[in-house]
Amino acid sequence: ATPVAIMVGTGKGAEMGVLFKSAEALETLHNVDTVVLDKTGTVTQGRPAVTDILPAVRADGGSMSEKQLLKLAAALEKSSEHPLAEAIMALADQRGIVARSVADFRAVPGRGVTAREGTNPIAAGNAQLMAELGIDVDRAQLESFARAGKTPLFFAKNGELAGTIAVADEVKPTSPAAIAALGRLGVKAVMLTGDNRLTADAIARAVGLSDVIADVLPADKERHVRELQDSGHVVAMVGDGINDSPALARSDVGLAIGTGADVAKEGADVVLMHSDLLDVARAIELSRAVIRNIK
Ligand code: ADP
Ligand code: MG
Repeated sequence: ATPVAIMVGTGKGAEMGVLFKSAEALETLHNVDTVVLDKTGTVTQGRPAVTDILPAVRADGGSMSEKQLLKLAAALEKSSEHPLAEAIMALADQRGIVARSVADFRAVPGRGVTAREGTNPIAAGNAQLMAELGIDVDRAQLESFARAGKTPLFFAKNGELAGTIAVADEVKPTSPAAIAALGRLGVKAVMLTGDNRLTADAIARAVGLSDVIADVLPADKERHVRELQDSGHVVAMVGDGINDSPALARSDVGLAIGTGADVAKEGADVVLMHSDLLDVARAIELSRAVIRNIK
């Protein structure tokens, strides 16, 4: 490609809020046939909010009040940096709850968090984490939340389920149009997420996506990109999180969401300043136009 054409293309990208960090990124993008999209913060707004608080009925027939459950949740989530934790803390704050402190706080990547309150082990996380702790969750309840596109978070104390708090993250208004635009360009969109299969499928349906890889541990996102490359695809990855940076680096072209984590933006080849997925399709069109003009 001629340096002048690339320069003009890079300038046009900048005008529309698509920052190409290298000439190579602009060139490679025209060959991309698969776009892998992170879910939270990429397809969705990344601002989850609590929708339901359901204390569980214990074996002894008793249960916590909503407020007690929220207090337990706040104690656990206080030290977590996960967006789901922020949703819990925002509600606790709104209800005037000051989070108690806990001991032995530990984040379990892709699963949740565990800690101790006095002699009581406590935990927050998904169904897998509860299974690992030997705690039964209500499958029917999990499925009804997940089918509605909500993510159920489970809270446990002393080896017993204390309750469920469901959290929902709205899809970005332009995500459905962006998926359709990629389809028109002949580019396959695949959503990659650590969230559970049912919730992921519900979100995918809402935006018109049919390819979903769910229940992915943070450390495995990169491997999924590599597998797509190994089967012959030229892959662009779009993400916003710290979790996404190895996958962004691995992909042929990594695109970071402008409002995302600094490490994601540092490791990416392209930064989407408007945090809008429509700009992914526009960037591919721009790259194709630049390459066409050169040839
Ligand atoms: P993603 O960012 O794609 O949603 P993560 O790998 O960060 O995926 O998290 C996967 C799942 O692990 C979440 O959907 C949630 O169920 C659970 N989880 C992670 N962190 C927490 C937390 N701090 N509190 C409760 N659940 C959590
Ligand atoms: Mg994300």
